[in-house]
Amino acid sequence: VYDFLVVGGGPAGAAAAIYAARKGINTGLVADQFGGQVSDTLAIENFISVKATQGPKLVASLEEHVRDYDVDIMSGNKASQVKRNEETGLIDVSLANGAVLSSKTVVLATGARWREMDVPGEHEYRGKGVAYCPHCDGPLFKGKRVAVIGGGNSGIEAAIDLAGLVEHVTVLEFADRLRADDVLVRKANSLSNITIITHAQTTEVLGDGKRVTSLSYTDRSTGENHELALAGIFVQIGLMPNSEFLQGDIELTNRGEIIVGSRGETSIAGVFAAGDVTDSPYKQIIIAMGSGATAALGAFDYLIRQDV
Ligand code: FAD
Repeated sequence: VYDFLVVGGGPAGAAAAIYAARKGINTGLVADQFGGQVSDTLAIENFISVKATQGPKLVASLEEHVRDYDVDIMSGNKASQVKRNEETGLIDVSLANGAVLSSKTVVLATGARWREMDVPGEHEYRGKGVAYCPHCDGPLFKGKRVAVIGGGNSGIEAAIDLAGLVEHVTVLEFADRLRADDVLVRKANSLSNITIITHAQTTEVLGDGKRVTSLSYTDRSTGENHELALAGIFVQIGLMPNSEFLQGDIELTNRGEIIVGSRGETSIAGVFAAGDVTDSPYKQIIIAMGSGATAALGAFDYLIRQDV
């Protein structure tokens, strides 16, 4: 039986594990893959106090830091259910391999994944022009032409944000109208370097083998194919929380994000959550780490108030 069990090995989970282990409590960390989204990231330039690093390098430091403490790391394991066991008062975390881990407190830090366009070239040019995070990668495209895929709030926010950095932004929306709030659409329309194209189905990402050079799309109203020359493509068609396995057991928003309070607490007593899987805004490494620390301290406060 653990005092504290983290589910997830990204920045939020790593921070939570370190904060818990430093309290001298029996700490475990179970993760599908240690590192999380950071493993898939090339350049990171907004992790404060580190001017520039790369995802795999940051993952190696994260793991080294966690291993410096007495944390039982169980990588390669997927959680399939999290439930409070009313008989024992413990939280039972079932794993896909059939095992069940029990803990007095649990921090869920299973992160999220960007929805992909699912077109040829997207994977090949990921990190070579295809990007998902304007706060992270916007400055890499300074003075260049880019596209934003998706005309919802995140797409239009990204376009407005990028318009201040890049030469020109084309927004491609699949539907016949933008789904973003009016105030954002008005703001985007007022900026001379944003072009909005609706009825646009992206069909392929093209490049020279090293970097993205253009994107092709079909105009769904005419059936015509077009090609846009550009250096970057920001895909903004949704960030999906890794919370499917929690459905029905824990309170989620309609987008599937775990609803948390200011100490990371969830709708199950003793279960806390942190990072991209929660309903807290702005999905970033530094924010995930901060919320992992908060959830660990929240769980510790909870733990010391339990009758033994
Ligand atoms: P994640 O990093 O998503 O980690 C989730 C962890 O949970 C993983 O270990 C995963 O294996 C595990 N997991 C998931 N489901 C289960 C399960 N059922 N059972 C067990 N384990 C599970 N942010 C920045 O601040 N700067 C950047 O430059 C930057 N660039 C990015 C570039 C890319 C391509 C991407 C995808 C993201 C980028 N981000 C960047 C965002 C940043 O990576 C995330 O905000 C951050 O990783 C969130 O941390 P997390 O710990 O909440 O989740």
